[in-house]
Amino acid sequence: MHKRLFIPGPVEVAEDVLQKMATPQISHRGKEASTLQRNISDKMRKIFNTKEEILLSTSSGSGLMEGAVRSCTAKRAAIFSVGAFGDRWFKMCTANGVPADKFESEWGQPTTKQMIEEVLKTGKYDLITITMNETSTGLMNDMGDLSSVYKKYPEVVVCVDTVSNAAGTEVNVDEWAIDICITSSQKCLGLPAGMAICTFSKKAVERAKLVTNRGVYFDLLGLYECIQKKDYQYTSTPSLSHMFALDYQLDKILEEGLHNRYARHIANAEIVRAWAKKYFEIFPDENFMSNTLTNITNTRKIDVSDLNKKLGEKGFIISNGYGKLKDKTFRIAHMAETTPQEIIDLLATISGILALK
Ligand SMILES: *Cc1c(COP(=O)(O)O)cnc(C)c1O
Repeated sequence: MHKRLFIPGPVEVAEDVLQKMATPQISHRGKEASTLQRNISDKMRKIFNTKEEILLSTSSGSGLMEGAVRSCTAKRAAIFSVGAFGDRWFKMCTANGVPADKFESEWGQPTTKQMIEEVLKTGKYDLITITMNETSTGLMNDMGDLSSVYKKYPEVVVCVDTVSNAAGTEVNVDEWAIDICITSSQKCLGLPAGMAICTFSKKAVERAKLVTNRGVYFDLLGLYECIQKKDYQYTSTPSLSHMFALDYQLDKILEEGLHNRYARHIANAEIVRAWAKKYFEIFPDENFMSNTLTNITNTRKIDVSDLNKKLGEKGFIISNGYGKLKDKTFRIAHMAETTPQEIIDLLATISGILALK
């Protein structure tokens, strides 16, 4: 039996979208490929609220995260981490020989304006990374608020991880002065894993020109220049299957309406939060709860693996806590095409298994 996915990626993919992956292949150097990539980019600009260029990558989101810090740090990167994915960004810097320092918040707490101000006023850094929606803790940073601080430092390239929230909650790239904003196909966009998408500002372009060792496959300037020179083509052979499905899914997303889609994510979140507060506790600071997944503190000390096994028999799967939070929390994703009714059914099933009253 197929288990319906309530994990924070990969997510359930609609049957018609999945079918688009089976579209007959085309030449990746033809006009058709250019049109396909250009159409995807135009639609992604609406999701990101930007006028800047859109880069596609045949990789998961981690590829573009690694490419961003490597391609655009000329001096030193400041990594603001609120959990496992912020830590990963720091690891990518050190593994690539990119000078970097990590500035951590306690898990469940946000990155603060004070932290950013303290770090940037030293003048040591020319790139920062922020995780907008941290999937390991279920926390969402307030980017509008944080942007008021880093906007005072125009020499800094701002990279933001919106992997688990873009297309599920509002992302205002231009208003928040983000230079590189990254997402993956298998989260709120509702596609199989294998394609990543980011915005790439003119400031990022100019910065990358100053960096010599940008690598090859994840050289973001290389991806950008290929788009300019070859009219929206990719440096190597892209996953055209993902592109067919993404182009189609973006039409569906825009047809639903971004406002409606974000409201549905919040409606899902509110149902999960109310249930979590009744029977457990919410892990992150409640002023910074994610709209796309909820991380629930396991106050009843339930056996999460056993719960998932029993859920599996009924056709559902949720996530255990991430890394050091394993068994201490569990996570319910409510992103992509998930509906309030599906959330209600899932929670009723969990309540039944755990005999919650
Ligand atoms: C899933 C995720 C990633 C990693 O993305 P991949 O597509 O798996 O490489 C990075 N950051 C966050 C916040 C995520 O949820």
